[in-house]
Amino acid sequence: MLGLMQDWPLLLHRIIDHAAKFHGERKVITRSIEGPIVESNYAQIRGRALKVAQRLEQDGIKLGDRVATLAWNTWRHMEAWYGITGIGAIYHTVNPRLFPDQIIWIVNHAADRVMMVDLTFVPLLEKIADKLPTIERYIVLTDAAHMPQTTLKNAVAYEDWIAQADGDFTWKSFDENTAAGMCYTSGTTGNPKGVLYSHRSNTLHSMMAATPDAMACSSRDVILPVVPMFHANCWGLALTAPMCGATVVMPGCKMDGASIYELLDTYKVSFTAAVPTVWLMLLQDLEKTGAKLPHLKRVVIGGSACPRAMTKTFQDVYGVEVIHAWGMTEMSPLGSLCTVKPDYADLGGDALLDLQMKQGHPPFGVDMRIADDAGRDVPWDGKAFGRLKVRGPAVAKSYYKGEGAEAFEADGWFDTGDVATMDPHGYMQITDRAKDVIKSGGEWISTIDLENLAVGHPKVAEAAAIGVTHPKWDERPLLVIVLKKGESATRDDILGFMQGKVAKWWMPDDVVFVDEIPHTATGKIQKMALRKQFESYRLPGVEAAE
Ligand code: AMP
Repeated sequence: MLGLMQDWPLLLHRIIDHAAKFHGERKVITRSIEGPIVESNYAQIRGRALKVAQRLEQDGIKLGDRVATLAWNTWRHMEAWYGITGIGAIYHTVNPRLFPDQIIWIVNHAADRVMMVDLTFVPLLEKIADKLPTIERYIVLTDAAHMPQTTLKNAVAYEDWIAQADGDFTWKSFDENTAAGMCYTSGTTGNPKGVLYSHRSNTLHSMMAATPDAMACSSRDVILPVVPMFHANCWGLALTAPMCGATVVMPGCKMDGASIYELLDTYKVSFTAAVPTVWLMLLQDLEKTGAKLPHLKRVVIGGSACPRAMTKTFQDVYGVEVIHAWGMTEMSPLGSLCTVKPDYADLGGDALLDLQMKQGHPPFGVDMRIADDAGRDVPWDGKAFGRLKVRGPAVAKSYYKGEGAEAFEADGWFDTGDVATMDPHGYMQITDRAKDVIKSGGEWISTIDLENLAVGHPKVAEAAAIGVTHPKWDERPLLVIVLKKGESATRDDILGFMQGKVAKWWMPDDVVFVDEIPHTATGKIQKMALRKQFESYRLPGVEAAE
């Protein structure tokens, strides 16, 4: 017997309809690419998204077509998402931080028909446009006054383009499992792989993200999504915020500490989210200026492990709660968040910080397990490591065109490629990417633990631990350090600081100081590049190879 409830497919345009109808006046504030702050609201965003939909249809874009966006977080980018998905086309966020060759590969693989592009990236696209044969038209996300002279095919200023529509348009109807969005993982090996979100998965993910033990979003929040829309859907915030009727502040292309601080302060932002490198810049800036964060209540930090020192500074110095989160492009992306359950309600000080080093527990809609190489469950004792596997309605079941099939197991679990522990209360902690973990004498050393510890040294800005070949132990840890500006420290200072805080055999064999650590397009440390750079590094006490 079927239930007798209404058939109400979970389509993304329902989110912006809801926001416009019940929170229509709520603002969406952007630091525009052209410079000035621009204020819009959900009613206007919906009105203009309808014009985007209408114009795309006039241009012959149909259900299932891919429309690429190479753009920062702005109100126009948000309108574009709703307009594109409102006719059943697919927004394909392209990460501009990728190498031009990767962008070419991705756009061709997705066979995007239209490219919406911010002013910032017009020169980049002009250089590679002849290698993007599937793109029929470029829409520059600006107005006529700022439209550059460009060689891009059929280029038009977004404002001129939507001005040709009257907005008298009805969203299209289709199945909720229709593809809505696309994002390629910046795989460190092999070609990038396409993840294809559906209307249903994005809607369910947004509902899950808003819950109190996840991001706890409400109409009373002022949300600054620093994490870009091209990095795993800006962790769902461009959908979750309108769903909740929250005010949104979009940072545009300025992500430096001073610019972010200005937005946090001026617009009394209550909640923000980004990768640790962004917060590193903000905290360094605050340390210099002595400014405080009186309005900010919580910050979600994920994408790579949040160092303990960062959590401590946010909480103790600025009174901002840190929510450590883990996820993946393949998971839409939220997988777990570290909020405090009653089991740990009594923790404070260092014990609470220990808990917050964990990536947390999954919200409803994410199932998790850890397994050994034979696929057997590993005990949830907070110590034993296993491969982290997940499943759920917003977890990919395949990559676009069936590539990378080995990660999707026959029993429905997706192997994340991360190695993790689970504690008895269901808190997950990532110890490493499976391919980054240091294998020393048959045992594993967590690079994340070493990095977190090293970053706790007051003079250290950033740290990366990598395995370097060792004749006896197979691999031993080498610590690569970037010092804070103007600071100096020696190998022994760093090792002395770490001494006694990790098992003796986990201690790095050596420390090197560099000016910069390479990062991926999504702000993660590029371990592969570092391993290559230090491939022939000779650790102390190791004889030169013949
Ligand atoms: P992406 O798809 O670019 O978001 O990358 C996902 C990967 O980032 C995960 O599989 C993890 O290896 C890593 N990651 C994300 N969040 C965290 C975190 N809080 N701590 C450690 N690693 C993380």
